[in-house]
Amino acid sequence: DGGKLKVRQTEVEELGTRLRGTALLGDPGNTDGRGVFNAMYTAEPSFTVYCATTSDVVQAVKFARERGLLVAVRGGGHSIAGLSTVDGGMLIDLSAMSAVVVDPERRLVDAQGGALWGHVDRETQLFGLATPGGFVADTGIAGLTLGGGYGHLRRRYGLSCDNVVEAQVVDAEGNIHRASAEANPDLYWALRGGGGNFGLVTSFRYRLHPVGPEVAFAACFHPIENVAELLGSWRSFAASAPDEVSSVFITVTLPENPHVPQPVQGRACAVMAGVHAGDVEDGMKALQPIRDIGTPIFDLSQPMPYTAVQSAFDALYLRGKLRAYWKSQYVDDLSDEVIGVLTDAALSRPAPLSEVNLAHMGGAIGAVGPEDSAFPERSAPFLAAFVGYWDDAAGDDECIAWARSAWDNLARFGTGRSYFNFTGLAGEPPSTAVDTVYGPNLTRLRLVKKAYDPDNFFRRNNNITPAS
Ligand code: FAD
Repeated sequence: DGGKLKVRQTEVEELGTRLRGTALLGDPGNTDGRGVFNAMYTAEPSFTVYCATTSDVVQAVKFARERGLLVAVRGGGHSIAGLSTVDGGMLIDLSAMSAVVVDPERRLVDAQGGALWGHVDRETQLFGLATPGGFVADTGIAGLTLGGGYGHLRRRYGLSCDNVVEAQVVDAEGNIHRASAEANPDLYWALRGGGGNFGLVTSFRYRLHPVGPEVAFAACFHPIENVAELLGSWRSFAASAPDEVSSVFITVTLPENPHVPQPVQGRACAVMAGVHAGDVEDGMKALQPIRDIGTPIFDLSQPMPYTAVQSAFDALYLRGKLRAYWKSQYVDDLSDEVIGVLTDAALSRPAPLSEVNLAHMGGAIGAVGPEDSAFPERSAPFLAAFVGYWDDAAGDDECIAWARSAWDNLARFGTGRSYFNFTGLAGEPPSTAVDTVYGPNLTRLRLVKKAYDPDNFFRRNNNITPAS
């Protein structure tokens, strides 16, 4: 299926001469010389097309189509499931398409499909504006947005996909479409949660909101041994937190890294962290109850520049250095039984950087109905994630088994529903089967797939097959 033997080197070179970008054999990495995030995936594409413009994308798609090549698309390259690379086929790398242009009057930003969240935040913050992104500046906007997108602003301003007002898409024939509420509304509906199934997104237009330059930030580090009691207290905090506050509970062993506060370097911690999207003084008051829980080893809470918050964890998650396998599950009721499962998972983490994460949902996420966009999950108040990180292939079996078993244990009390962006292997049933994730939206998604990609050309993704 890959096409390793289907293309001659001279054809790749000839394609390169027709592009503003370039085409190179193998995968020399993105334009920074960096490859994919997850070190488990060392696939070697036959060649990589570095697109600099929409016309390059159109040419690349047509080239692959004419030759029947399997194509992978690399936006930011952060796919946990290894979807941003391919063995033998053709890789379309978008890292040269990372331009970001802000329209402060209309509170809109246009960002190209290869931009990272750090690129977007830098430009929008010049005007004291932001759109909801992810927790790590190095993550691509495209994969994150197309799969939903949870970040520090989620309870105040919704998911990243909820803030898309328009996108430009190159479909499987190389045709260009505008997708918005007015233009191709079915495509617009499907892009907001349906992943990279419908075409290659060359640019997104997002709605902006006043955020920063400083926001109230809380991060309290406690000994991991107290995790069960702390989860109980954090549950009470979450129950009464205003929508401006988006908080998370993380268990992790912090590395001995100069970017980590000295008192917690090398320590296994339970971390309660939160961001308030609004007035800084009000925010520090709203976050105070987190700071009043127990006796932290270290309390990093303070007003912080929004861009610093957005990149605060980057040093822990270095691209290409870690092997990763994640599983996630929405939780309707953070019962004592669920706390028990999360505690067991936290205390049995097989590798120091592996995490149990629990994110508080609700607020603006629920302002969009489950069928208003392709992203159906609007009601669960929490998302739990078993985030396996380790650095040696010898740990693969143990770390993957840990995440799977924690997920299975949670399924006895959780919802069994997953978040596609937090999944380790594409199509791994039942947690990452498209019917479980999309529920009633799958039928419409398959119809939109049929309209824009009837032959399933774009299939290195959480694949939605075209309606028959
Ligand atoms: P890529 O690997 O480039 O792409 C992922 C998928 O999207 C692939 O199927 C790819 O083909 C497709 N795709 C990429 N670009 C395009 C495009 N332009 N057009 C069409 N299809 C495209 N998620 C959250 O919601 N919130 C977080 O805070 C968060 N933090 C993360 C932190 C780390 C360290 C990592 C590794 C992941 C995180 N994620 C988070 C998960 C993240 O949303 C997904 O991994 C997402 O797929 C990354 O997008 P990307 O563009 O970097 O990925």
